[in-house]
Amino acid sequence: MTVRTIGIIGGGQLGRMLAMAAARLNFRTVILEPQADSPAAQLADRQIVAEYSDPVALGELAALCDVVTYEFENVPVEAAEMLARNVTVFPPPKALQVAQDRLTEKRFLNGCGIETARFHAVDSQADLEAALADFAGKGVLKTRRMGYDGKGQRVFRGPQDRPEGGFAALGGVPLILESFVAFEREISIIAARDPDGAIACYDPAENVHRDGILDTSTVPARISPATATTARDAAARLLTALDYVGVVGIEFFVLPDGALIANEIAPRVHNSGHWTEAACIVSQFEQHIRAIAGLPLGDPLRHSDCVMTNLIGDDIDAVPAWLSRSNVLVHLYGKSEARPGRKMGHVTELK
Ligand code: AMP
Repeated sequence: MTVRTIGIIGGGQLGRMLAMAAARLNFRTVILEPQADSPAAQLADRQIVAEYSDPVALGELAALCDVVTYEFENVPVEAAEMLARNVTVFPPPKALQVAQDRLTEKRFLNGCGIETARFHAVDSQADLEAALADFAGKGVLKTRRMGYDGKGQRVFRGPQDRPEGGFAALGGVPLILESFVAFEREISIIAARDPDGAIACYDPAENVHRDGILDTSTVPARISPATATTARDAAARLLTALDYVGVVGIEFFVLPDGALIANEIAPRVHNSGHWTEAACIVSQFEQHIRAIAGLPLGDPLRHSDCVMTNLIGDDIDAVPAWLSRSNVLVHLYGKSEARPGRKMGHVTELK
């Protein structure tokens, strides 16, 4: 397969950064996104303005591209499967199916020998009460689908947090109750696999969230070499089990004894991997493009320690101050309006 044109489903900042990386390697990009003038479309060769599941648009995308990828995990699986009948789709649609449902995801991770929090499916108020009773009243209740940045969640800290109305409060949709993990810190690993099965892992990042949204990623993470190896092994097992091609992000909780509990997977480039553009020769974005285009994977070696900070909402006002500092790479996403909670850009400071 000779790849000249890469299709990207989704027009957000991740698509934008993928399009930039693709351009540097001489690829053309086509974005499928319902919103006109999206961050990705501003830098791509072409945009198809249509819903992600529009069959005509998907046909057009398949005809224009040699390989199609995606920048968010809620692409309808049926759309990805329809596309895959006409054009190569990387990562495989199976990865979307696994990542879209927290229950399927946890079962798949456990099937790969990767530990997660204990969990119960919750499809009714009675299920919730039984599940909470099993976890001594403590747990995190989450929607199985479409949750992100801590949305669609409720924490039960003990029997004092009454379960009444808990099922309905999250919309009466299928839920999962996870046992409460008393973690010491949160880390993530960004890894890539190519069509021949070669795997490259970046160093794990230590992540801090603010209001449920990633605030900073610091590398190196304060973990032992053994914990880092556990994260790499988990990534390799997951990528191989999914016959995956492209970049994946896996988030973990680190327990006080260094053991890892996988929280979730993102079948795409990930916010906690943005630091790689400043602290590695080959960023996660280029790595993803290389993998899906069948080019050799880049060396994931980190040449510097660093801290990546997201610019959320009004944080964008601090850009002039960031720009006046040395050793800081500023990356803005082309969004005209700074709303609270909206990711406007990020900065990575080399240490
Ligand atoms: P998530 O949407 O699954 O990434 O969860 C958002 C944040 O909530 C995580 O980054 C953790 O800080 C916290 N959290 C999620 N699940 C659990 C859990 N089972 N135990 C403790 N904290 C959790």
